[in-house]
Formats: sequence, C-alpha cells, structure tokens
Amino acid sequence: MSTHQEEALRTLKQVYGYDSFRKGQSDIIAGVLEGKDTLAILPTGGGKSICYQLPALLLPGTTIVVSPLISLMKDQVDALNRLGVSAAYLNSSLSAESYREVVRQTSQGVYKLLYVAPERLDSSMFDSLSSQMHIPLIAIDEAHCVSQWGHDFRPSYRQLAGWIGRLENRPPVAAFTATATPEVSEDIAAMLGLRKPNIFVTGFARTNLTLSVVTGTDKKKFLRDYLKQRPDQSGIVYTATRKEAEEVCDDLMKLGIATGKYHGGLNDEERAEAQEKFRFDEYRVMVATNAFGMGIDKPNVRYVVHWQMPGDVESYYQEAGRAGRDGEESECVLLFEPQDVQVQRFLIDRSTTDPDRKSIQLNKLYTMMHYSRSEKCLLQYIVRYFGEADVPECGKCSNCLDQSAMIDTTEDARKALSCVGRMKGRFGISMAAKVLKGSREKRILEFGLDKLSTYGLMRSWAEKEITDLLYYLVAEGYLRISEGEYPTVSLTAEALPVLEGKLTVHRRQSAAAKRRETAGTNVSAANTPLFEALREWRRVTAAREGVPPFMLFFDAALREIADRQPVTTEQLLGVKGVGEAKARKYGIDVITIVRDFKDGAASGGYPAALRTDDPQPQSQVAQPSRATAAATAEPKVQISEADAAELAELESLPSHMQTLTLLGRGKSLADIAAMRGMSRVTIENHLLRCAQEGEELDWAMFIPAQHETLIVETIQQIGSEKLKPIKEALPDDVDYFAIKAVMVKHQLTPSYE
Ligand code: ADP
Repeated sequence: MSTHQEEALRTLKQVYGYDSFRKGQSDIIAGVLEGKDTLAILPTGGGKSICYQLPALLLPGTTIVVSPLISLMKDQVDALNRLGVSAAYLNSSLSAESYREVVRQTSQGVYKLLYVAPERLDSSMFDSLSSQMHIPLIAIDEAHCVSQWGHDFRPSYRQLAGWIGRLENRPPVAAFTATATPEVSEDIAAMLGLRKPNIFVTGFARTNLTLSVVTGTDKKKFLRDYLKQRPDQSGIVYTATRKEAEEVCDDLMKLGIATGKYHGGLNDEERAEAQEKFRFDEYRVMVATNAFGMGIDKPNVRYVVHWQMPGDVESYYQEAGRAGRDGEESECVLLFEPQDVQVQRFLIDRSTTDPDRKSIQLNKLYTMMHYSRSEKCLLQYIVRYFGEADVPECGKCSNCLDQSAMIDTTEDARKALSCVGRMKGRFGISMAAKVLKGSREKRILEFGLDKLSTYGLMRSWAEKEITDLLYYLVAEGYLRISEGEYPTVSLTAEALPVLEGKLTVHRRQSAAAKRRETAGTNVSAANTPLFEALREWRRVTAAREGVPPFMLFFDAALREIADRQPVTTEQLLGVKGVGEAKARKYGIDVITIVRDFKDGAASGGYPAALRTDDPQPQSQVAQPSRATAAATAEPKVQISEADAAELAELESLPSHMQTLTLLGRGKSLADIAAMRGMSRVTIENHLLRCAQEGEELDWAMFIPAQHETLIVETIQQIGSEKLKPIKEALPDDVDYFAIKAVMVKHQLTPSYE
C-alpha cells in the first residue's frame, strides 16, 4: 500500500468512521493525490463523494466541487460540517449577503471544499475569486451532464473546460459519474479537456438491488399490496407524467399512507417541502416524476417502483439506483405495459426538434424497451449496456428467479420470422403482428399484406401474444428494429438457420405470469427492538436538531449497533459509519440505550416514546404496548428452551410466516405473541398479511360466524376508512381483528395500514 493510500485510510476511519474503502475508491484517491486527471465511473451509491472529499482533506488549499444541483450541494455541505470539515457552497439559493460572506471566507482559505454551480464559474467575479485561491483539485460531479450523448445534457457544463483553461496553474481535474456508456465516457474526457486521465470503471452492478419487471398487472392493486407488505419502509414511485403522479399520490393517501408528491407543476416551495418531508421520514412514499432528481441522496430508500417505463436505460438505472444507497438490500420494480413506449415517444417528440437528438433518444428508448421485455438476467442486461462484460447473473432478479421451464418455440418462431422476412423490412412490429393475426384493418388491405402466404398464420393467437413473441425474437437477436422515428423490423443473419430448420428457439413458459409472482418477494427481515429504540432516538434527536434522521446515522450503522451492542466509545468507533465527531456528539446517548437494553432496564424508562405501528385506538390494545413488549423482549425474552428451539428452527422464514407456522402447530395468538416478544396486534397483522399473500387461513378462528354477514354489511355501509365507527356499530363481542379479518377475507379495502 502506498503512503498516500495509508494516509487516506487513516482519514477515512477518523473522519467518516469507515474501516475500508469500497471498490475503486482507494486507487482513485491515490491517483488524485498523485496529481493525475481522473475519470471515475462508479455506480450510484458507490461512494463517489469520498473520492474527492478525502483528497480535499489531505491536500492544502480549497478543492472546488462542481455540482449541478442546489439541493445536493446543501446536503453535502451539511454532512461535511457535521463531520467537522469546513465546507461551503456558492449557488443561486444564497442571499446576496451570505454569498458575499462565503466569497470572503473563501478568499481567506477557510474552507477545505467549496461547492459551486456550473453557471457561477463563468462570471468575472469567480475568475477573480479563483485567482486568490489555492486550488489543489477540481472535482466535477455528474460529469455526464457535459456530454450531449448522455441522457442529461446541460449546456452550462460546456463552460467548464473554458474556465479550467483560464486558471493560472491548472490543478488536476477529477470527473465523476454513475452512468456513462463507453461513448459518453470518451465524450466527457474530450469535452472537459482531461489530460491523460486515469480512467476507472468500477462496475455498474449494484448487487444490493433486486430488479424486477412486472407486466400485465393491475398497477393500483399491485402498488397497494406492495406497500402493505412494507409498512416501515421508505420508497419512491416514479410516474411518467404529472397527472399520474397526482393520481397515484391521491390513491395512496386515501389508503392512509403518508405520501408526498413531487413534479414540475408544483412551485419551488411545495417541492422543497415535499422533499424535506421525505428526507425526514415524515412521508413514507414519494410519488414523483423525474423532476425528483439527482439531488436525492436519502440513503434508506428501500424500493423504487416505476409506474411506467422511462425513456432510456440511463434514466432508469439512475432513478432505480436511488434505492439502497446505504448498501442494504433494496428493490427496483418496473411496471411495464407495451403502451409505455408510445408515451415515451410522445415525450421525446415534445422535448426536442433537433433530428439528431431525437434519433439518439429513440434508440435509447428501444434499448429500454428491450430491457422491459428481456427474459435474461436484468442486472446483466444493464451492465452490458454500460459496456461491462463478464458480469455473472445476479440470481435474484425477476428473470433469474423465473424457474418456469424452457419450451421449444421453434415452430412459432419460424412462422413469425418468415412473415417478417416477407414484409421486406418496410413495416413495424405492430403491422407484422396484425398480418400474422389476419387482421382486416384498412392499412393491411391497402398494402396488399393480406396476400402474403403468412397472412393469418397465427390466427388463433391474441395479437398481443404475437407482438410479445416478435419482441422476444428481437431481444434474442433474430430480428432487428431499425433506428429512427418510424422503426421497421427485419431479419438478422441469426434468423436464417432457424428458418432453414438448423436451429431451435426456446422460450420460458408463462414468463409474464411468473414475473408477477416473483416481483417484490424480498421483504427485509423484521427490525429488532433495540434497532427500533435506536431509530426512535435518532428520529427525536434529528427533529430536535432540525436535520433528517440519516444525517445522524444511517440505518446500516444503527443496525450494526443493535447487533454488536457497543458499551464503550472505543467499541462504538468500531461500528461502520461512526467517526470521531459523531462518537463525541452522540456516543453517550447511544451507549446509554444499548446499556439499558443489556441490563433489561429499558422496560419502564428510556426510550419513552417507542413508536407503535399498531394503528388502533390504544384502548383496544389489550397486550402491553409495543414499547414495553419490545423493551422486555430484547435481549432476554423469558421463554422456555423448547420455545427458543422452535423459534430458532423457523428463523429463516419471513417474520409473518413464522407466526403462521406457529399457529398451524396449534399455538394460540397470545402464546405466539408472548414467545416472540411481540404485541398481539403485530401477530394478528402477520396473519392478515399471510392471507393477502395467498396463504390459507382458518377464518372461523377469528371471525364469529353469527356476525360475519353483519360485519360485511356494516363495512359496506360505513366504508373502510376508519375502524372505530365500524367497531362501534357492531356488537361488543366483535373485536377489531374480526373486522380486519373480514376486510381481508372479503377483499373490502383494508384500512389498517
Ligand atoms: P455516490 O457514488 O452515489 O455519490 P455517495 O458518495 O453518496 O455515493 O456514497 C454513498 C454512501 O456510501 C454514502 O452514504 C457514503 O457515506 C457511503 N460510503 C462511501 N464510501 C464508503 C466506505 N468506504 N465505506 C462505507 N460507506 C461508504
């Protein structure tokens, strides 16, 4: 290890509390410290910031960081200040007075890092400021914005090379991005005038993400069920249009889910407020268009659901990649319908009149469409697109999990290929499907396509099935779709051996149906009571300090604390994500919580306000409140050895399935709640969730048969929004669980989120 690397490692531990570098970081930092220009392509969440922040800490002077988004700058500067690093930013959000103050302090060399918006660089005032500064490094974040081949070209980035060129002593320049194809990388290096840069591509595969494509589903129902399974998790739903964002948001709010919306139709204030509430975990879900953009670095986003297919793979991976920045398992679900392609085409048409730009965008759209229809590993598809070969299958995306048998589809493929061949590359996929179907549509007859020998060859198929098959043949390389605005389909060389009977084609049986089942099965394990206690402490403390909770500690750090249970500052410093500044500031609080739990003393005392997920009025909760149950349950639950062994045996099951299994073994709800150290209501909710996931439940155990019809009628009359009025309208011996069970059994909208 070089001295640079050793020094960097020491600072990493001291300032950030991390023990080791992530892939690529160490080499990138060493190169930067040696004064080399750098182009680093790291996946989202890969840790780009540390690659320039750490050198900035070690080099004398003020590193300039060019960044396109105001909110992102503020977050980064806040986070650095909390780590004890002096940093500031210059952008249009500052008042004239604050701006002057930052300029004054900059000229005095107060800051280690100065974040600057690209538009600022072109002013003579900035030229004069930079001439007074000692700048050891220029870092350019989101560097793909400089390339017009990229998906987010920003003209203001084009001024960068000019400004860098004007500096008297040109410092090393380090450019960072998450999404760049090889073509875009070359363009970035050229447009920024990088000098023999070290180029790092550390891999695009984000292995903590589970990718799924879901087709042919009732999206609203899918989303409701999906969110219901993730009551504690924070996530984003991306829609293609503002109108959809409004609709989806309304729908979720009606279900009582704390949901925010973010799109270009809202004013700055509304958007800023929505973003803040999401960051502060006041909104559990954010429904947004792509206007909700690069500025989000909330680390604990556990899922990103795309309501529609976006226009290109870069945007998709960047948006989906906002899940799991903290490195924890997270999910990315794309809800795809073929008509999404039309919506995106419309958006492209509207966004540009430049024919070159349009053609680039359309090609990107088709690649995205192939992703949505691919039956191969989804992660592999994406990383290959970014030019990375030899990445193994992820083993957990919806395609990898699709275990359905491969069936021989050669005969159908030959019919389809033969038809496309006869149409001589003059028509698109939908016309080919219509010919195979034997459509009497006017255009088909006008072009005489009904005279082809392949006309009506697949009459018994639904047109959509034929279209799917054709797209499958495109994805497998037997067919090619032309570029441009009116894409046509034609045969590739690969098709000939199939037509000649020399090659067979196989396809998964019922791929679409399987996808629906597998998407979103990855619900993360239940949180332990100590973790919950720490999280509650973090929520309260962060609220007091007026910062989002993750600014104190990430979930991953809290989870590690809950696992390791440190009781000294030294032990606490051993936790990933706890550096010296944070240990000094919060160490005593955290250690006190851990000690209380260890001593079993937390029951009546700290923390006072453990959140209860149980939504019923408190009077209904017959069991001890979750706070008490949680506190007494961890770490020493008083259970028999037999029970402990039984629990250990079930450990690998999701929590709600453990409950169902125990019920099946004859345990009562009260027994299960006691042995698992959970409240009765939590156990009941487990069972409801099992039922919603299709497990068989013996409803008669929970719903008094003599009242079932009455309960149904009452719910229909009063509505399912609130439980209390329903309860009050029913006989006393009908409890809340019976009402909820009836809602689930009869699929009346449940309102017990
Ligand atoms: P991006 O590449 O998307 O800009 P960030 O720089 O925001 O990623 O880093 C993502 C997260 O990973 C941040 O929370 C950061 O603190 C964390 N991180 C970065 N480097 C390391 C490391 N070496 N060890 C642990 N966590 C790290």
